[in-house]
Amino acid sequence: MSADWDLVVVGAGPAGTSAALGALHHDPSLRVLLLDRADFPRDKACGDGIAPHALDMLAGIGVRGLLDDRVPVRRLRLSHGPAAVERAMARPAYVVPRTVLDARLVEAALAAGATLRRHRVREVRAGGQDDPVAVDDVRGAVVVGADGAHSQVRRALGRPRGPAALAVRGYAPVADGRRGAQVIRLGTEHQPSYAWSFDCGDGTANVGYGELLRADRPSPTRADLLARLDRLLPGATAGARAWQGHHLPLSTARWRPSDGRVLLAGDAAGLVNPLTGEGIFYAVATGLAAGRAAATAVRDGRPQIAGRRHRRATREVLLPHLRHTAAAARLSRSSRVLTAGLHAAGRDQRVFDDLVELGLARGRLTPTLALGLGRALLHPSLTEESA
Ligand SMILES: Cc1cc2nc3c(=O)[nH]c(=O)nc-3n(C[C@H](O)[C@H](O)[C@H](O)COP(=O)(O)OP(=O)(O)OC[C@H]3O[C@@H](n4cnc5c(N)ncnc54)[C@H](O)[C@@H]3O)c2cc1C
Repeated sequence: MSADWDLVVVGAGPAGTSAALGALHHDPSLRVLLLDRADFPRDKACGDGIAPHALDMLAGIGVRGLLDDRVPVRRLRLSHGPAAVERAMARPAYVVPRTVLDARLVEAALAAGATLRRHRVREVRAGGQDDPVAVDDVRGAVVVGADGAHSQVRRALGRPRGPAALAVRGYAPVADGRRGAQVIRLGTEHQPSYAWSFDCGDGTANVGYGELLRADRPSPTRADLLARLDRLLPGATAGARAWQGHHLPLSTARWRPSDGRVLLAGDAAGLVNPLTGEGIFYAVATGLAAGRAAATAVRDGRPQIAGRRHRRATREVLLPHLRHTAAAARLSRSSRVLTAGLHAAGRDQRVFDDLVELGLARGRLTPTLALGLGRALLHPSLTEESA
């Protein structure tokens, strides 16, 4: 049986569009089909914080200037109880509604030669080694599952779900004192949890709250989440609209990409940073890598090794980082460690920068970070915060 498409991508969010772009950058003649159940522009519950690293990766394959018309956010404020630190980030981030970001990524994928169809995928069937993969009634030589937190493709592969958080977000007039910054207030209850207010640069802020779901406590309702947001950031819900909630599938140190012709990327692969809830960078990084792996495997006439190539490319880059974030997430369950981390970041810009890198992209628990944390734990009285 022959394939209708060289690559079928399920989901046209950041992971899916990056997969299409990665494949077509490698070989513009590939037949790439993007399937999404939604029409674009479409909204997606998100804090809308976009790490510059994701834009770097896209620029690396020629998708430049994607957010040049948006106002960058330079400052980050972190607080927990009475401890607080606010500093300029080494590189500014962006806060861009997903109706805008995702539609631009879809446009870029279409301009590169992908075909987009509105279709809700219900069934994915991988046959033998030599057979294409059936995605409902189309057949792809390689398939990338980029269909988000409740991925149908991941389910078809029989992969279990890992730990998850639940978060809700809305848009509100930006409050005085929270302008020009990404403000994150870490919870003291229902931990790990945090509330945020991210200035969009147009008079509104993306505000929200999320917490880890645990088997030993009841799942929070939307009313619970909103009440906890308002407790941590008083006034954040005033005048807010467009509330939406969603799960965040958190990464662990045991992440293992799939083999064969069916690859997973982004949330479908369980790749949200357990410290910060950031997932767009991982979606772009694993999407691009999946697209590239699919393109080279198809070019070599061996689509069945696409998964192996994707695994090699991504594990090398991501696995050490995922181990470090998993360790940091465990440490951050202690209020004492969180407070010490903020004190250390307040004392030393390098600690702050390393912390941001760990939470946003590929950072590690560096010696600078470990030393700063150790000192702050040993000498909690030395608190020169740059609030
Ligand atoms: C409240 C909240 C706040 C967050 N804040 C941030 C943040 O500030 N910064 C950050 O980096 N990350 C944040 N995240 C995480 C981020 O939203 C995700 O990691 C990111 O969207 C992952 O991209 P993706 O392409 O893998 O999946 P998605 O963006 O979820 O895209 C999946 C696509 O698949 C489509 N789809 C799903 N099922 C099917 C199907 N069966 N058939 C066809 N199409 C299908 C969907 O319509 C969707 O378009 C947040 C998440 C939440 C919930």
